[in-house]
Amino acid sequence: MKYSLELTIAIEAVKKACSLCVRVQSSLVSDETMIKKDKSPVTVADFGVQAIICHELKKAFPNDPIVAEEDSADLQTKEGKALSQKVYEYASKVLAELEEEEIHSTIDSGDYDGGPEGRFWTLDPIDGTKGFLRGQQYAVALALVERGEVVLGVLGCPNLPRDLEEPKSNKGCIFSAVKGEGASVKFFDDGIENEIRVSDIDHPTHAPFCESVESGHSSHSDSEQIAHILGVTADPIRIDSQCKYGVLARGEASIYLRLPTNEDYVEKIWDHAAGYIIVKEAGGRVTDVTGNDLDFSVGRTLSNNKGVVGTNGGLHDLIISAVTEVLNSK
Ligand code: AMP
Ligand code: MG
Repeated sequence: MKYSLELTIAIEAVKKACSLCVRVQSSLVSDETMIKKDKSPVTVADFGVQAIICHELKKAFPNDPIVAEEDSADLQTKEGKALSQKVYEYASKVLAELEEEEIHSTIDSGDYDGGPEGRFWTLDPIDGTKGFLRGQQYAVALALVERGEVVLGVLGCPNLPRDLEEPKSNKGCIFSAVKGEGASVKFFDDGIENEIRVSDIDHPTHAPFCESVESGHSSHSDSEQIAHILGVTADPIRIDSQCKYGVLARGEASIYLRLPTNEDYVEKIWDHAAGYIIVKEAGGRVTDVTGNDLDFSVGRTLSNNKGVVGTNGGLHDLIISAVTEVLNSK
């Protein structure tokens, strides 16, 4: 299989990163931090994950550049010293070979600009920081982009239940996909890998849709109108992070809407690359709100696109026409 070494390394790195997240969440996220809206736990996890994954990628593929969300500037200030030590403390628990002196430079190896040439990795160390802080859904998202096209994606979802309808079912899985090879999921509890497919629902009435918990990230009022036009009867499934792509890829939702809330916001490639290929390889479609393919070849952002619409494929054209109707009427 093409990219088999890349896939193995990426899955192992994401697994280590997930174990750091679980440790941080269980020891640092408390009722007190939640009440105080104290973001420090997610900051430790964010930097720690980026250090671990960049270190593992650099070790295996020293020539591959990385486009990652964070940089070490905040850790390098006087006030950042304690935070930096905490990042090292947690990161070295899952990756003993990591040296304290290399933490900042390793994090900063994610500063590549992206673009249409060669290949590069893109990483969102913790996607869905708000979900992480609420003790809900978040994801570690890693993808490989080659000549502007996403060719591999790995999505670690430590809090995602096996079955969304059974919130108490065992949690934690890793989705992965390689271009042309399909998509699969592996649960943390049994380690068994299963292929996944999108739903085969062919009428929107029966199509549950998912969207952000945060109405600032995707317009809930527009999605409500779209659901009304389509005759969708189920309530929206609101989940933070790229877990939405995972839920779509494994057939629990048939539509994912990310509807612009302001003219100026430009989506970031690390927020979509992994989820995009996982849904496509599971048989779905992912475009922007006008139906154009997402363009990962233009740098760190999706500057050629607005919003995101993902579906099980069969429903796509119908959904895009309802989205167009609502967005054009504003
Ligand atoms: P979600 O968990 O789906 O709500 O998405 C989380 C991601 O939304 C974060 O990683 C941010 O990069 C991104 N984000 C921040 N502001 C906006 C915005 N105004 N519109 C869309 N996405 C945003
Ligand atoms: Mg993100």
